[in-house]
Amino acid sequence: MNLSSPRPIHPSATAPDWERVRADFPLLMREVNGKPLVYFDNANTAQKPLSVIGAVDEFYRRYNANVSRAVHALGTEATDAYEGARTKLARFLNVRSDELVLCSGTTFAINLVAYSWALPRLKAGDVILVSRMEHHANIVPWQLVAQRTGATIRVAEISPDGSLDMDALHAAMTPEVKLLALTHVSNVLGTINPVREICREARKRGIVTVIDGSQAAPHLSVDVTAIGCDFYAITGHKMCGPTGTGALWARRELLQEMPPFIGGGEMIKEVSFDGTVFNDAPHKFEAGTPNIAGFIGLGVAVDYLEELGRNHIEAREQELLAHFTEELQRVEGVRIFGTTPHKAAVVSFLVEGAHSHDLATLLDLQGVAVRSGQHCAHPLLQYYGVAATCRASLAFYNTHEEIESFMAALKKVRALLG
Ligand code: PLP
Repeated sequence: MNLSSPRPIHPSATAPDWERVRADFPLLMREVNGKPLVYFDNANTAQKPLSVIGAVDEFYRRYNANVSRAVHALGTEATDAYEGARTKLARFLNVRSDELVLCSGTTFAINLVAYSWALPRLKAGDVILVSRMEHHANIVPWQLVAQRTGATIRVAEISPDGSLDMDALHAAMTPEVKLLALTHVSNVLGTINPVREICREARKRGIVTVIDGSQAAPHLSVDVTAIGCDFYAITGHKMCGPTGTGALWARRELLQEMPPFIGGGEMIKEVSFDGTVFNDAPHKFEAGTPNIAGFIGLGVAVDYLEELGRNHIEAREQELLAHFTEELQRVEGVRIFGTTPHKAAVVSFLVEGAHSHDLATLLDLQGVAVRSGQHCAHPLLQYYGVAATCRASLAFYNTHEEIESFMAALKKVRALLG
């Protein structure tokens, strides 16, 4: 296997021409309801550049074969490309590739930690610490573990601006806490949590950390080694890759101690009716045929993001966020959820007197795609005392003109509903 060792992530020098970048995304050229599409639902899933679409297409046209089993040429080509994607992803996150388990996404990755690490270890009296702003994927697996082990869940609260209450978080890290599960970036508020500082505090107290990087990896220069967590989960479709792809990074010692989560082919060295010798990590967690084409596409997505330069992506999205927020604040009756200065380009909002579904539906009629609902974060919406919000989430390929179109559409909708 091709092992890559962690190395610092270097920023790239020249900023891309964003007009040309946009042309890489064919879907963005279409119309919806007779209007040019304004796609502001990137936190839900990102659009795919031609290079990713082409890589998936090429796999099926030219070298479709199963990985790690066939000795013929196609099998070797497929295996090389699939393992190549692991190496690229490892470099992208600044981790070793033999510590990276490829899986279907963050949901699977967190469940893997829950079932393989937490379930055999936790017991009555232990505490799992989560924050108020977690996605259900970082709540429900822990509840399932708690039910089966007798451990309990403790919640670290947030402040009204959507930032973590750091004093409360530190106070909550008592000796009973065995695991802290925290999102790097909130999918509802956009809040960027100071995960490096938090993981340092957790480590001092012997608490194992699971960081949900779903909304961070596509937008920030994530350096997992520098963060110093124990587990880091990502999902490929939010970072311009195909759906059904993702990864769990874990410290090698933890991966070695953990039993497999799912059994089957590919994860073994030897099987007899007397028992099975499992393969080494990460393969012992990768039973069955993976989403080969998807991972090859994800590898190309990683190339694409790195070529743009993650420093430039971050700067571009911050610029779009500033423009969007400034304009949105000017619309009468708008309430924004998540107002910390350190946030990603995710803006949840409500307009006085309007239901978020009505807002989203009327915006859609004008070609604008936003998400409306609870964003898989019921406890967070309960904190704010609202049933649903509208969420606009921007990506580097969005434009200032789209922000103007969105605002014009929103003002029309407001007039209609008001
Ligand atoms: N965590 C966060 C913060 C998310 O935003 C999402 C998806 O919206 C997930 C976890 C789950 O990701 P997936 O459905 O790709 O497994």
